[in-house]
Amino acid sequence: APATIDRDLKADFPGMFTPEGEPWHYLDTAATAQKPRAVIDAMARALGEDYATVHRGVYSRSAQMTLGYETARRRIAEFLGGSEDEIVFTRGATEAINLVANAWGRANLKAGDRILLSQLEHHSNIVPWQMLAEAVGAEIDVCPLTEDHRIDLDAAEAMLTPKHKLVALCHVSNVLGSVLDAPRAAELAHGVGAKLLLDGCQSAPHMTVDVNALNCDFYVFSAHKLYGPTGIGALWTRGDILADMPPWEGGGAMIDRVTFEKTTYAPAPQRFEAGTPAITEAIAFAAAADYVSEIGMDEIHAREAKLVAKLRRELTAMNDVRVFGPEDSAGIVSFAIGDIHPHDLGTILDEANVAIRAGHHCAQPLMDYLGVPATARASFGLYSTEADVDALLAGIQRTRKIFGQT
Ligand code: PMP
Repeated sequence: APATIDRDLKADFPGMFTPEGEPWHYLDTAATAQKPRAVIDAMARALGEDYATVHRGVYSRSAQMTLGYETARRRIAEFLGGSEDEIVFTRGATEAINLVANAWGRANLKAGDRILLSQLEHHSNIVPWQMLAEAVGAEIDVCPLTEDHRIDLDAAEAMLTPKHKLVALCHVSNVLGSVLDAPRAAELAHGVGAKLLLDGCQSAPHMTVDVNALNCDFYVFSAHKLYGPTGIGALWTRGDILADMPPWEGGGAMIDRVTFEKTTYAPAPQRFEAGTPAITEAIAFAAAADYVSEIGMDEIHAREAKLVAKLRRELTAMNDVRVFGPEDSAGIVSFAIGDIHPHDLGTILDEANVAIRAGHHCAQPLMDYLGVPATARASFGLYSTEADVDALLAGIQRTRKIFGQT
């Protein structure tokens, strides 16, 4: 891997430049990552000269495509340290969580059971559980945060009871970058007989993920945050759990035999992939995993950690700035500057080709907890550089001058 380090990684990403060919300081990778040429090319080939359907064709192009699709599944399994029959392709993390809530949740939760979430969850790891809880009569508990904005697992330990059937937590916060101690969360969940679901949207792009070492039961993430295409993501589920899960959506490709009297279902993972799947996206998803693996998670982490440290240091030195989240945030820095609204900051930064995110980041309960309507968020990817941080800091100083803050 060291050979790739000296390469200017921005050059691999056509999206990292303005139409005039100027560098674009893209600091919204937590929302969605830019795509390397390798992913774009893989997708173009799959949509072009390689294109055909999967699973049903008797002709060789379709057999080739089926092989490509199933190879992608194996590649994603390998990326997570799981086995290929434990990977279900979904439209993304959101659909994966809804799948678990509807297939596993409805079969395993009943009135009076409890679900433990945390204060910092993304709406996609809140709303599906509220819908499930309402349908089956279950209750939701919310684990608080520590002073440095991590999920407080000591509090979780005190809250968990044998009534808890599921603990669903964000592995890395999309707002704060806080990293969960997942093995401990698993130990606590399993200690009361609950399952652990990890929302891995922001961990898969920033750290090596090994579902066995994490000891979770479900792990979900989206390809588009890992430099892959939109429209696809994955659910990893421990094999014995997945084998027992009833289907969710019905249709073609998920059946064994259909008659009007009775339909039987295909084994997992096919049972959970009704309809023609996102074939080209799956192939490009695997290409993204290859790209990231080639650079290496240690290298990615080292690059991003340096930028997080620099940005946090510079922001903390300014007057009247709140920097949220822990020091060792995984590539994400949320902050608030005096009474400058994050949207105003974002608009002024845009004029200097700096793209940050301003808003509630689909985490309104976290905003309520922090006591702000919104935060400004800079998030890094493997292509981010010190020049991006410098451009952001210069833009912040300019904004402070405009608003008369020194
Ligand atoms: N969880 C987290 C932590 C996220 O950051 C996101 C995306 N912002 C999601 C879930 C939802 O992912 P998607 O919209 O790709 O389904």
